[in-house]
Amino acid sequence: MHFRGIAFGLGLCLAASAALADPQTAAALRDKALADDTAWNLLESLTSEIGPRPAGSPAVARARDWGVAKLNTLGFTNVHVEPFAKTAWLRGTESGEVVGPFPHKLVLLGLGNSPSTPPQGITAEVTVFKSLAELKAAPENCCAGMIVLVNQPMTRTQDITGYATAVAARSAAPEAARRGAVAYLVRSISTSTSRSPHTGAMRPPGLGVKVIPAAALGVPDADLIEHMAARGPVRVHLALQSHTEDTAAWTVSGDIPGSDPKAGIIVIGGHLDSWDPGTGAIDDGAGIAITMAAAKLAAGAHPRRTIRVVMWGSEETGGSSAAYLAAHKKDLGDIVIAGESDLGADNIYSLQLPAGAWDAPDIKPLEAVLAPLKIMASSAPAEEGGSDVEDIHGAGVPVLALNQDASRYFDYHHSQDDTLAIVDPVQLRQNVAAWVATLSVLADSNFNFRKGGK
Ligand code: ZN
Ligand code: ZN
Repeated sequence: MHFRGIAFGLGLCLAASAALADPQTAAALRDKALADDTAWNLLESLTSEIGPRPAGSPAVARARDWGVAKLNTLGFTNVHVEPFAKTAWLRGTESGEVVGPFPHKLVLLGLGNSPSTPPQGITAEVTVFKSLAELKAAPENCCAGMIVLVNQPMTRTQDITGYATAVAARSAAPEAARRGAVAYLVRSISTSTSRSPHTGAMRPPGLGVKVIPAAALGVPDADLIEHMAARGPVRVHLALQSHTEDTAAWTVSGDIPGSDPKAGIIVIGGHLDSWDPGTGAIDDGAGIAITMAAAKLAAGAHPRRTIRVVMWGSEETGGSSAAYLAAHKKDLGDIVIAGESDLGADNIYSLQLPAGAWDAPDIKPLEAVLAPLKIMASSAPAEEGGSDVEDIHGAGVPVLALNQDASRYFDYHHSQDDTLAIVDPVQLRQNVAAWVATLSVLADSNFNFRKGGK
């Protein structure tokens, strides 16, 4: 059922005034998405043809061209690239080993923004802390000349809280440095027992903060060092090389134009850059593929508002959220709502909208459209829409959150196992179905998200 199609046939233009969201259209799009392979094909293409693509690498420039080509092929309009300056951190050679008392080759990955060790590396005794809190409680000079290891396990949770709690340890090198440490090791921020280490960026330290080389150990290796340390002093050799480069990064953007140019723009997307050990399938090729496929499907129902798919160009080491705000300060008022898909490809289990939106008569029926997908209409207002929309949200753009099941995500995230092999095509399609149903309703709704509908 699509009464605007009939209206068009009569030569009338009702788009601006009468286009209330139609749940039957949303349900039809949902069902179409459940049998649609566009997202899978995009993700297969990105992981096969581009692979790992850290900001500043030659691969991310190829990813930019890939994004432009795919948007054009799928019929998006206003396809363009937004460049911004980027100081990129790029990994060099890395190695680590326990030199005594029980020699053991370590598996590790340097953390983004880590300085290099001297070329010959660092050899020092390791001091182990079982939690970040334990390190923070340790006296100044506890660790003079030593390598600090924080071996704090991460709690597996369905939402982001397990990660949000554990991830502080990844940026704790300055805490170790303040206590005299010469290098910092962290147990991977991971729920897996695989030996694969999980990298990630350290928050850039403030001015005047001492920086020391830092790396993530695979979970079993972190445990092993703790076990050895219980027996006596453990000496580790670390050699970490990296460099920074002043370069450019790019955010790629394309539109499904709305029937009413004055009705505003819905901004959705994912980030095109990835970490380097895997092929960036779940982080965040999936987000790109899901949102592009959903917008493409939504186009078939002629949305009233424009749907803009954005591939942010530097999430992992930061920069694309601020760059997007800077590039869109002038037209920020046109963006009615924004959201990002950046927590893998497993099932979505709840939708959060801005305050008041679920009470809108033309949005309320979305609850029933999402129910067969086992997606709850969350009564908690959306406060975060993803790290690339954080800055525009801070500047007043409302956000939505289609919350994905993260139970499995942190087994693979930022590790060599982030590949297409761990993506479940059925769950990937569930994501597209949720996004397209939501987009269809929000694009046709008259609700003003900025003002709680008023
Ligand atoms: Zn991500
Ligand atoms: Zn990431």
